[in-house]
Order: sequence, then structure tokens, then C-alpha cells
Amino acid sequence: MDTFTASTSGATHPTTSPGTPGLYARLGVRRVINAAGTLTRLGGSRMAPEVLAAMTEASRAYVRMEDLQVAAGAVIARVTGAEAGYVTSGAAAGLLLGTAACVAGDDATLMETMPDLSAVTRNEVIVQRAHRNSYDHAVRGTGVRLIEIGGVGHPTPVPTRPFDLDRAIGPRTAAVLWVEMGDPDTLGVLSLPETTAIAARHGVPVIVDAAASLPPVSNLRRFIEEGASLVCFSGGKAIGGPQASGILAGRADLIRSVALQHQDMDVHPETWTWRHLIADGTVDGPPLQGIGRACKVGREEIAGLLVALERFVARDHETEFRSRQAIASMIAEGLRHALASTGGVSIHLDDGVRNHRPSVTVAIDGPDARARVIGAVNRLGDTDPIVAVGQGALDRGRISLSPACLEETDVPDLVQLVAGALNRP
Ligand SMILES: *Cc1c(COP(=O)(O)O)cnc(C)c1O
Repeated sequence: MDTFTASTSGATHPTTSPGTPGLYARLGVRRVINAAGTLTRLGGSRMAPEVLAAMTEASRAYVRMEDLQVAAGAVIARVTGAEAGYVTSGAAAGLLLGTAACVAGDDATLMETMPDLSAVTRNEVIVQRAHRNSYDHAVRGTGVRLIEIGGVGHPTPVPTRPFDLDRAIGPRTAAVLWVEMGDPDTLGVLSLPETTAIAARHGVPVIVDAAASLPPVSNLRRFIEEGASLVCFSGGKAIGGPQASGILAGRADLIRSVALQHQDMDVHPETWTWRHLIADGTVDGPPLQGIGRACKVGREEIAGLLVALERFVARDHETEFRSRQAIASMIAEGLRHALASTGGVSIHLDDGVRNHRPSVTVAIDGPDARARVIGAVNRLGDTDPIVAVGQGALDRGRISLSPACLEETDVPDLVQLVAGALNRP
């Protein structure tokens, strides 16, 4: 049987193209030219050498994970302006853990009860309808029921009114979920400051999903400044940390509850590192392995995330933005040239000034637009290397290309493969 060990020999598998790293080639797994962005299903982001070095260094010695999380939390608190912080295995894990904290607080019995909250009073989380999204499964995973308020609207959004939230909050409310999705007025949702003001009057925490809302760097602090009780970010997107990492920042009491529901709790009450919490009456005893145990984080991820986060804050985002703009321009120019004689295709360059995300849109017009782009996307999945493109507007006959995960050297192959896929009937 073959053994699949990492190697720098560069030996390639006969079924993969020359640019494929040896490890993937030996597995027969084709490389992806990623013009879709920091998507989890494509591997998140590329880690800087400093991040990888931190992970290697961390793996050489043992530490107590709770000590490492406390130290990491101090770094996250400093960077976000929050009282406390925690490293999770991703933003989705942050939503699960954050919700679990809002439900259970310091109640060790309730931590054990989750996700069966049928006999628990505070078992609901309020969310504005326009904020519903597929990641809120992580919130529901704790056993809470989502209570929807506000509209989604047609032909224009029916905005949530402040009293909709005010009246919805009651004795069953464990938290309010607020998702960063862009301009609240366009979405028809209450802004975060409006939401946190109302929730605070009822003493109810607000959890913010800001997973993909970086850059700008200022967003690391913005949600806490606007009153969020907890905010989660992905470590494996723009921060450039390990794919399976994320940040949770917020109230110290909630972060403590997160730790209690995340750590490996095979402990003896008399020798538990946090036995002071029993002595001072915070918890009745060490909770058992909690709902968060299934999304554990290694010390390598914690170390990598911290280095990536400190680099992210210090990085020259203006220069990085301009280089992404330059790659987007190169792609647009290349495609205009390569597709000059292809009918019904137009190329649009977005400089990204509006949303920090330069991109190129390839638009097909005509009655068969949708079928043509679907055909092209599927052909790009059959090439070697594979080309991954943004499919958010597939139904309108558009694909988008993001420079976020591309190097300049990827552009010629990308242009050739995309043009080839569109030129075929
Ligand atoms: C990516 C994303 C998530 C999940 O983040 P992970 O770090 O991959 O767990 C959650 N919510 C939103 C809005 C996202 O874009």
C-alpha cells in the first residue's frame, strides 16, 4: 500500500498537472486555481510562512490548553477592544459556543442538558428574517429555537421596526443574533447599535456573526464598540490563519462559559486547574465535556491564529488592496482580449472601493445565458488545474472572479482556462 508522506521531491502523479504540489499529486488530487475567494470548501486561505512556523513551534512542547486559551484571549481582547477572547475552530464554532454560553451561563447542569432545551426556560434566540442564513444552523445546534422578526420583503424590504424587537424579547430569550451582511437600510434590518440598545434594556446579549467581514481592520473593533456581547470572525478567511480557526470576542463572563463548554473536562474537582471557580461559587463543579467539545482547537491552530491576527493588524492593507486591484485588472484585460470574438459575453471590472473586494464579472447575455455559464463552470471543474469561480449570480448568467486568493502568476492559466470554457458551446 502506498504511503502518503509529505515530500519536496516534486514527483507528480500521472493524473495531475505539473503545478500540483507533490503531496496532492501522489493522492491524485488536482490543484485548484482559486478565483472564488476564501471559501472553506476550497481550503480557506494561504498561510504566511510566519504562521506556519508558529504552528510548527507550538507542536514541539505541551501546554495546558486552558492556559494557552487565556493567553490567546488576552491578545484577542487587546486587538478587538473586548473584555475577553477565545480561539475557536472557526466562526461557525464561535456561533455554537457563543449561543451555548448565552443559554447556560455558569450552570454546569444546563451545559450538560444541551441540546435538549425542552425543559429550559431561556431556549430561544431572536433573529431578523433578513439575517437568516445557512450558518445559523450552528446557533440552532445548541437546541435553541430561532424566533424570526421583521420581513424579507418584496418588491422592497419590509424593515424591522424597533418595537418588533422590543416586543419579541421575553423570558425565553437567551440572545439576539445579528449578522453582518452589509448596509442595514438596504437589507431592511435594525442596525447593530439599534439592536444592542434595545437588547441591553432587557439585559439580553447580542451575538454578532462577522465571519467574513474583514477587511477593513477597523471591523475587528467595530462590533464590540457598537455594543455586541460576542462577535465571531473566521481565522481562515482574510486574517490568513489556519483554515480551522476562528475568533470569539466579547464579555468575560460569556467567554468563561465558552471555555467551560469547550475544554476537555476529564478532570477531578479537587485538582481541576480552575477549581477556584468552585471555591468562589461560580460553578457547582467542573462541567462534563460540553457541546463545544466536538469543535476542539489544537495548540497549533491557536498559535497560528495569533500570529496571523497580529500580522493582519500590522499588514499594509492599502498596498495589498492595490495589488488585488492590479490582479483584477490583469484578469479583465486578459479575458477581454481572449473573448473578443465570443458573442454575448461582456467583462466588467469592479475596483472594489465600495466593499474592499475588487472583482471581475463575466456576464453572458441572451436566452441561453444561464445554461452557458453553468456549462462553463462545470467544464472548469473538469480541467487540471481546476478553476473555481464565484457562482453567486449564476442564475443571472454571470460568474465572478476574485483576486483574493490568486497570485499574479495564476492569471495567464486562469484567463486561458476561463476563456476556453466559455468559448466551447
Ligand atoms: C464563512 C462564514 C461563516 C463560517 O465561518 P467558518 O470560520 O468557516 O466557520 C459563518 N458566517 C458567515 C456569514 C460566513 O461568511
